[in-house]
This record gives sequence, C-alpha cells and structure tokens, in this order.
Amino acid sequence: MAAEKTHAIVLKVVEFSESSCVVTLFTEDFGKVGALAKGARRPKGPFEGAIDLLALIRIVFLRKSSDSLDLLTEAKLERRFRSAQRDLARLYAGYYVAELLTELTERGDPHPALFQAADRTLLDLDTGAPLVETIVRFELTALKEAGHSPSLSGCVICGREIKFSGRVPFEMTSGGVLCENCRPGRRGVVSVSSQVIDALRKISLREGEAPAEPFLDTTIHGELRAVLNNYFAHLVGHRLRMSDSLGSSTKQ
Ligand SMILES: [Zn+2]
Repeated sequence: MAAEKTHAIVLKVVEFSESSCVVTLFTEDFGKVGALAKGARRPKGPFEGAIDLLALIRIVFLRKSSDSLDLLTEAKLERRFRSAQRDLARLYAGYYVAELLTELTERGDPHPALFQAADRTLLDLDTGAPLVETIVRFELTALKEAGHSPSLSGCVICGREIKFSGRVPFEMTSGGVLCENCRPGRRGVVSVSSQVIDALRKISLREGEAPAEPFLDTTIHGELRAVLNNYFAHLVGHRLRMSDSLGSSTKQ
C-alpha cells in the first residue's frame, strides 16, 4: 500500500459515519479518486476544514486495491472556492465544473492538463473572469481531454473544410459539422447558426488564455448553450444536472 502525494480538487463529500466522510477527488497525478476521510467531520479533525467542495487541497493518501476506497491520511487547504459566498451563478458554474470532471473521467485515469484547466477555471470564476467564456473554454478543454473535441471547421465525416454561412448541420453522435455531401441520411443532426460555430472556434483557439472581457455576443449565448448541453447529453447518456443552471434557454 503506497502513500501518494498530489494536489486535488474536492468534487463530492458524502457523510459516512458520525465522524467520517467519503470524498471524491480529482487529483493532478492519479485522476479521480474515491477516498475515506476518517475524522473529517470532527470540528478539530485531522484535515482542519480542508475537505470543502471545490477546494484545491494538497493530499497524502493510501491507495487500496482496485475496488475498495483509498484512505485519505492528510489534506491541507491551498485555496477555497469562494464564489459560494458571493454569486449564485458562479457557484453553479463551479458545481458544473465538478459534474463535468465526475462524468468525463474514470477513476485512476490521470489527466494533468485537465486538472490544470479545472484549477484555473475555478480560480477565474472566483476572481471575476467573464462567466460564459470561462465555462465554455473549460468545456472545450474537457472535451479535448476526453477525446471528444467537436470538429468545428472540417466535416466530421469526410474532413472537407466547410465554408460557413447561415446555418450549419452539426451531428451530435460523431460531434461535428457536416458538409452537404455527408449530411443526407444522417441522424442526430441539428442546425446551428454559423455564429455559434465561429464562437466555439474562437474560444478553442484561445485555450489557456483567461478572457479579460466578455466577447461572446449575448444573442447567440442561448443557442450556444443548447448545442453544448445537447452534445454533453449525447456523450454521457443523460443531461448534466447543472447544465440548466448555466443561464439562458437550453431548449433545442
Ligand atoms: Zn463531408
């Protein structure tokens, strides 16, 4: 049983007994981890209040055999997610980040780049970066890490570059735009305005860069959310719980 050290973001905390809880963590080096935190519910417990939803913590844990929970032995708080006290929309966006990490990653499958992106996104939410752009940027990084980046310029079937104007067919199952040759007979196709595709391309090109100002046109925000919510629902097999809390209409 090896003791492992890493950074982690707290995704979920469930009471386990009077003094303990089970935590789901997204760690930098080991991916998603489920661990028992003994004494975490005691006021002066061993973790000193570090087990807090969406907090960035430094941990030591003991890895157990495949099916059982790991054991958390140390947790030090590095940064609390503070939006909880200030802004409901940002709090929900933080929950959404946790939901995406939970749904798109497997236990024990490390994605350090996704960890960095999640850490940065939570910090950006806390420091007042534009909400919509910050979340979409994280969604596109999460899709890339999960191997499901949508194809936004070439046809997802034949690869041909598409000239955009008006509305563009987007296939949910294969995740991308379709050219007019490939469109006939395909299922799960929605019609998306070329401005939404352009906005997604723009954000995917800015990966890593925190937007200082909102730059998405508010008139396309509703449609953009509808497309992404629908795409994630196809990927994970159900609608994400927090997706309806991200503002704007999600009807498709
Ligand atoms: Zn094609």
